[in-house]
Amino acid sequence: MTQNTFYPPARTLMGPGPSDVSPRVLQALSRPTIGHLDPQFIDLMDEIKSLLQYAFQTENTLTMPISAPGSAGMEACFVNLVEPGDKVIVCQNGVFGGRMKENVERCGGQAIMVMDDWGSPVDPGKVEEALKSHPDARVLAFVHAETSTGASSDVKTLVELAHRHDCLAIVDAVTSLAGSELRVDAWDIDAIYSGTQKCLSCVPGISPVSFNERAQQRIANRTHKVQSWFLDMNLIMAYWGKGAKRAYHHTAPVNAMYALHESLLMVQEEGLENAWQRHYDNHMKLRTGLEALGIQFVVDEKSRLPQLNSVYIPEGVDDAKARSRLLETYNLEIGAGLGDLAGKVWRIGLMGYASKAENIALCISALKEILADR
Ligand SMILES: *Cc1c(COP(=O)(O)O)cnc(C)c1O
Repeated sequence: MTQNTFYPPARTLMGPGPSDVSPRVLQALSRPTIGHLDPQFIDLMDEIKSLLQYAFQTENTLTMPISAPGSAGMEACFVNLVEPGDKVIVCQNGVFGGRMKENVERCGGQAIMVMDDWGSPVDPGKVEEALKSHPDARVLAFVHAETSTGASSDVKTLVELAHRHDCLAIVDAVTSLAGSELRVDAWDIDAIYSGTQKCLSCVPGISPVSFNERAQQRIANRTHKVQSWFLDMNLIMAYWGKGAKRAYHHTAPVNAMYALHESLLMVQEEGLENAWQRHYDNHMKLRTGLEALGIQFVVDEKSRLPQLNSVYIPEGVDDAKARSRLLETYNLEIGAGLGDLAGKVWRIGLMGYASKAENIALCISALKEILADR
C-alpha cells in the first residue's frame, strides 16, 4: 500500500466544533518551529496570556492556555479545586455536566447533581435549593454554553448564588468564549476553562483557563497533592508564570501557540463586544432562513445560544442521509444530536470565523434542496 500526503477536503464547518479556522491562523501555524524556551517564544507566551486576559475580560494573573483540549481544561479546574471528600454541586442540562460529575468523582469528591431538561438552562432556583440543603458544599460547577443542546445559562446569577453559600464557581466556557457575553472579573468567576476550536476558530487541542485569587488560595491551602502531575497548576505556573525564569515542565505545542496568538489577535482587532454582536446578528439571519423552511428551534428564545443552533429535524427527512448529503454534495458539516436528542435534532454551529453571511446562505440553500427532495 502506498501512503500519500493527506490533503483534507475544503469543508465548511457548521457543527459543534471544530469551526472553520481562518487562513490567517493556518498561516501562523505553518511558520518555523522555534524552541519552547527560546526568548522570543517566551515573549509570545506573555502576549498570549495578556490576549487571553482580554478575551476572558479578566486581570487574573493565573490565565494561560493548557496544552491539551477543552476536556483537559475541565479536568485542570476539578483536579486543582476538588479534594477527596469535597462536596461539589454539579448542574447537568446536557452532556458536559455529566463529564463534570465524572471529574468530581475521580477526584474523590461527592457530586450533588442538579438536573435540568436537555435544552433548558440551569435553573437557579434548584441550585439555591441544593446549596441550602448542602451547606458543606465547597464548589458549584456548571456549563455556560451547553453545546450538546444549544442552551445558555445565567452565569452571573449562578456565581452569585455560589458565593452567597461559600462555594467557589467553576464555569465551562468552551463554547461561549468570544461568542457570547462573558465577563470573568465583573461576574466574579473563580475558575473557568475554554477551548480553541469553537468561537476562537483556532485549531483544536488547546484549552485557555483562568483562576482568580480565591481559587488560587484554595489551591495553595490544599491538604492533598493534586493527583494529576501534568495538570497541577502549581507546576504549570513555574512554566507559564515566571517570565524569563521559566522552567521546563512540558514542551508547549509551539506552532499551535502561534495559531492561538493569531486567533486572539483577530478577536482583539474585531473587539470582543463586536464579536458577540456578530454572533447574535448571524444567528438571527440563520433563524429567519430556517423558520422560512418551517424548521423549529429546540431551545426557548430567551436561552438560545447564537453560536449553536439546535433545531428539530423536519419530518420525513432521514437524519444520517441528509447529513452525509450535506457533507458530500456541499462540503458542509452540521452536527448530529447527542444523548436524548440523538436522531431528533441537528446542531448548526455559527462559531467564530464560520459565523458569516456566506455560510448561512450555503446552509439554507442546501437544506432547501434536501427538504424539496423529501
Ligand atoms: C467541546 C466542549 C468541551 C470539550 O472540549 P474538547 O476540546 O472537545 O475536549 C467541553 N465543554 C463544552 C461545553 C464543549 O462544547
